[in-house]
Amino acid sequence: MSLETITEEQFRDEAVAFLEANAKPRQEDSTAWGEGSDKVGLLAEKTFEEEMEEVREGKVWKGRVFDAGFGWITGPSQYGGRELPASYERIWQAESARFDTPSEQPFGIGLGMVAPTILAHATENVKDAYLRKMYRGDIIACQLFSEPAAGSDLAGLEGRAVRDGDEWVLNGQKVWTSGAQYSDIGEIIMRTDPDAPKHKGLTGFVVDMHAPGVDVRPLRQMTGGASFNEVFFTDVRVPDDHRLGDVNEGWTVALTTLMNERAAIGGGGGGAGVIGTQRLIELARKMGRNKDPIVRQALAEIYANGTVARYTNMRAMAKIKAGALPGPEMSIAKLSLTNNLRRISDYVSLVLGPRLVADAGEWGTYAWAEFVLGQPGMSIAGGTDEILRNIVGERVLGLPKEPRVDK
Ligand SMILES: Cc1cc2nc3c(=O)[nH]c(=O)nc-3n(C[C@H](O)[C@H](O)[C@H](O)COP(=O)(O)OP(=O)(O)OC[C@H]3O[C@@H](n4cnc5c(N)ncnc54)[C@H](O)[C@@H]3O)c2cc1C
Repeated sequence: MSLETITEEQFRDEAVAFLEANAKPRQEDSTAWGEGSDKVGLLAEKTFEEEMEEVREGKVWKGRVFDAGFGWITGPSQYGGRELPASYERIWQAESARFDTPSEQPFGIGLGMVAPTILAHATENVKDAYLRKMYRGDIIACQLFSEPAAGSDLAGLEGRAVRDGDEWVLNGQKVWTSGAQYSDIGEIIMRTDPDAPKHKGLTGFVVDMHAPGVDVRPLRQMTGGASFNEVFFTDVRVPDDHRLGDVNEGWTVALTTLMNERAAIGGGGGGAGVIGTQRLIELARKMGRNKDPIVRQALAEIYANGTVARYTNMRAMAKIKAGALPGPEMSIAKLSLTNNLRRISDYVSLVLGPRLVADAGEWGTYAWAEFVLGQPGMSIAGGTDEILRNIVGERVLGLPKEPRVDK
């Protein structure tokens, strides 16, 4: 059958046949107290060995999915995609959600943010070399933007790339690089003209994370895991054809990635899916707080705001699906999500009291500590709440611009 003429119905049948042959149906997540895992963390809290096992299983699964034609449903055929409309991707997502499949979390940043940037800004060589491998799960990509003195003020970054013939030589330090410990390539933004105004002197590259001079050092977070890293670059050589976009046009490249990042996090793809209301109600019942008007009001706020956040996100995603670039709506979507995560955090703290900080071995109580400690990170990753409010104020509401310390 020609792929171009496959109907949605035929595609769904094909997807279900593949899933039934390769995975087990997912058991309904139980909301019954004491049943199943009580894990509610927001960041990956795994040992290095557990992470590597997750990566290994994920790679095997993604390879199988890609070879069966479901790895890059909407992508261009020259890089291994099927060029089908986004509605087919949604069918795949809906069908595969009914099955218990290996975690694809390690591939999230690479496919959600780096791959769209490569597609938009890389040379043909780089697209040919990496896109198919990324979607097939053969390689993983990370995002090397933040530096110790450049996070919100990303354009102030100081890592240097200096041209040397057909190559660039990279020196500097990145920080908070999620997944660098198992990544094969990274999208990096470096300063190529220190004399130009800060937004005008940056250039993007795709860097080989296994190249000599790349040193990845894990950072342990307060929740226990170590999903971030510091990455040091010492005389790392990058071929000029691994440049993303034009020299000194790296800010445009970075914006492509950041907008896709907000879309991924706001869309719940950042590992921060909103906790089901039923679980929160059950918690209040078990703690004997379900008649407490303050608790009930907090619960109602979470439900109402969670619903509004979902609709805001759907509206923003619909715009993207209609062909528009991710815009300030994604900032609103991400802000709505993180606001609600904070409400959930406050709610469980109110309901659990001391049980949140003292592990008495009781199911579904102390486990929330991981959520409460991980939640502030969600208000920082992909643009802090304050920065997103500035964007909404200035670009959506048309308010006067915030004072800038530099131009
Ligand atoms: C879970 C997580 C994953 C991450 N993964 C990655 C990754 O893979 N790759 C990567 O490159 N980075 C990553 N980061 C880093 C992230 O992008 C930065 O932490 C973020 O951009 C904020 O930068 P900063 O930490 O330097 O804080 P700062 O920019 O120093 O901000 C400190 C405080 O000042 C406030 N502030 C700063 N400027 C303004 C302003 N103009 N107006 C009002 N308030 C302001 C901020 O809101 C914040 O409260 C990750 C971070 C987290 C938490």
